[in-house]
Amino acid sequence: MKKLCPECGGKIIGREDKKFCSDYCRNAYNNKVNKDSKNLIRNTNNRLRKNYKILSDLNKSGKTKVNRVKLLNQNFDFNFFTSIYTTKTGNTYFYVYDQGYLPLENDYYLLIKRE
Ligand SMILES: [Zn+2]
Repeated sequence: MKKLCPECGGKIIGREDKKFCSDYCRNAYNNKVNKDSKNLIRNTNNRLRKNYKILSDLNKSGKTKVNRVKLLNQNFDFNFFTSIYTTKTGNTYFYVYDQGYLPLENDYYLLIKRE
């Protein structure tokens, strides 16, 4: 069975283990893959930076209670955090670097800065 080049879809002629029809296609394909993963990392970093800024701005004192709506209004994205910490009593803190938040009852959050 003939393999097809993943970049251009053309037939691959030559050695059995050849993955691309040409050096050109191999380079073009690999550059695209690298670009995608670079974009992913850049977008994730941007999201984390934005979340960090929102938490820092809202939590000037180091410990602040806020409503979920207030976070969402600033486009806080709950999918992006850097670590999770669960206490012995079963409370789960989410951290964006040293800025954390603990979900409370009734859509409130306790913002807390790590010492
Ligand atoms: Zn090709």
